Amino acid sequence: MAKSSCTARKQTRPATWASSPATLPDLLARSQHAELLGRLGRIGDRLGTRVFLVGGPVRDLFLGREGPDLDIAVESRARQFCNAAGLELGGQPVFHSRFLSGSVAAPAGVRLDVNQTRTETYARPAVLPTVKPADIEADLSRRDFSVNAMALNLAPSSFGQLLDPLDGRRDLQQRRIRVLHDRSFHDDPTRVFRAVRFAVRLGFNIEPHTLGLLREAVHDRVLARLTPERALYELRLVCREALVLPIVESLVHERVLRAVWGWTAPRRFLPGLCRLVQQGAGPELLFVYWLSFLPVTERFPIRREEQEAACWLNRFEPVCGVLVRSFRASTIYQLLKPIPEPALRILAALEPEASARRIRDYLDRLARVKTELTGKDLKRMGVEPGPRYRYILDRLLYARLDGRAQNRDDELSLCRRLLARRPARLNHREHGEHRRYGKAEARMKSEVES
Ligand code: ATP
Ligand code: MG
Repeated sequence: MAKSSCTARKQTRPATWASSPATLPDLLARSQHAELLGRLGRIGDRLGTRVFLVGGPVRDLFLGREGPDLDIAVESRARQFCNAAGLELGGQPVFHSRFLSGSVAAPAGVRLDVNQTRTETYARPAVLPTVKPADIEADLSRRDFSVNAMALNLAPSSFGQLLDPLDGRRDLQQRRIRVLHDRSFHDDPTRVFRAVRFAVRLGFNIEPHTLGLLREAVHDRVLARLTPERALYELRLVCREALVLPIVESLVHERVLRAVWGWTAPRRFLPGLCRLVQQGAGPELLFVYWLSFLPVTERFPIRREEQEAACWLNRFEPVCGVLVRSFRASTIYQLLKPIPEPALRILAALEPEASARRIRDYLDRLARVKTELTGKDLKRMGVEPGPRYRYILDRLLYARLDGRAQNRDDELSLCRRLLARRPARLNHREHGEHRRYGKAEARMKSEVES
C-alpha cells in the first residue's frame, strides 16, 4: 500500500490480544458492551434462537478498538428478536423483511444492526446477491475477509465462545487482510475498496495472494460494473475514515478509480486533499472536493447541493480573478453569495491567501449581516409589493455591509431616497437584478476598476 507523506500516522499495535481460547469469555466480559450483550443472549434464549456478535465488532474487540455499532446475527426469528431487543433496551426497532435485517437505536448512542444469518449467491459479478436464510457457519463464509468472519456466541450457556472457521484470528495476529475465496472481488467489487480501507485503518497488509486477486479484479475492470450508487457509497465511507489520505493514495496507486470511472487523479488532487485534511475538513467536504474531480453525470445519485458545490469548485477561477481585486464588502458579498457554503469552505482552505481571506470574511461575517428593515416595513411604508422589494432590500443590505448604513434610521433615509428615484430609473435597475451571474461579474469588475 502507498504510504502517505502528509498524514501518515504512527500505527499502534493492538492493545488487546486474546492469545488463548480460554481468555475469550473474559474478553467479552471486559467489553464496554458486556452487560448489553448478555441481555441480547438471554433474549435469544427466550426466543429459542442462537445469537452472535459478528464481523467488525468482534475484530475490533480483539484489537482493543471497540465502537458504538454492534453487528448481531440471529439464526432465526430475526424480526421478533429485533422487537424484543427494542422493547428491552428502550430503543426503536426497525425491520426490513425483504433484507431480513433490522436495527435498534439503543441508549447511550449504541446501535444494533440485527441480521438473519444467510447465504448470498451472485448470479453475475457486481450485482447484488440473492439472499437465503442459513446457519451461522454459512453466514460467516459469505463475508468479505477472514478478520471480519468471526462470531462470538452470546447464549448464556456459551457466552463468549468464538466461532472462527476461516482462521480470522490467525490473520488478526499476523495483521493481514485475506479474502475467503478467489472469486471474492469479482462477486462484489466493493470489497476492493473495503480491503484498502481496512488495511490502512488497521495498519494491516493485504496478504499477497489477496493483493494479487485485487489487482486482477482491477485489471479485469469488474469495478466498472458497479452502479454509481455503490461506488459513491464506498467513496463516502473512505471520506469518513480518520486515515482518509493514505487510503485515497492507495486507491489511486492501485488504479481503483481508473477501473471504476476511467478516472486518473490529476496532480493537484492529492495535495488539495491533504490540505483539506490538515485543516480539519469533515467527510462531507472531502466528498464534495473529490466529486469535483470526477466525471459527474446526471446518473450520479448525489444530493443537488453536493452537485452544485462540486460544479462551483470548477467554475471559481473567473470569480476569483474579480474577488482578489475587490475591496468593498458588498462586492465580495455579491460575488460569493451564489456559491454554496461547502464549496466556499473548500475554497477557503485551498485558495491563495488573497482570495481565501475574503472567503473567510464572507463566511464568518458578511454572510450574517442583516438589514433592520424588512419587507413588512416596506409594506407599511406603502410600497407596492413586487420586484422593487428585493431591489430596495438588497441596496439596504449593501449599504449595511459597506458601513454606509449603521442603524434603522440610516436604512429608512436610504430607503426614502431610493423610493424618490424616478420609476423608470428604478425599473431599469430592477431589471438589472435579474442579470445572470456572468453579467454581475462584469459589473463588479467595472465597479472595482472605477
Ligand atoms: P466498520 O468498522 O467500518 O463498520 P465492519 O467490519 O463492521 O467495519 P460493515 O460495513 O459495518 O463493516 O459490515 C459489517 C460486516 O458485514 C463486516 O464485518 C463483514 O463481515 C460483512 N460485510 C460487509 N460488507 C461486506 C461485503 N461487501 N461483502 C461481504 N461481507 C461484507
Ligand atoms: Mg460495522
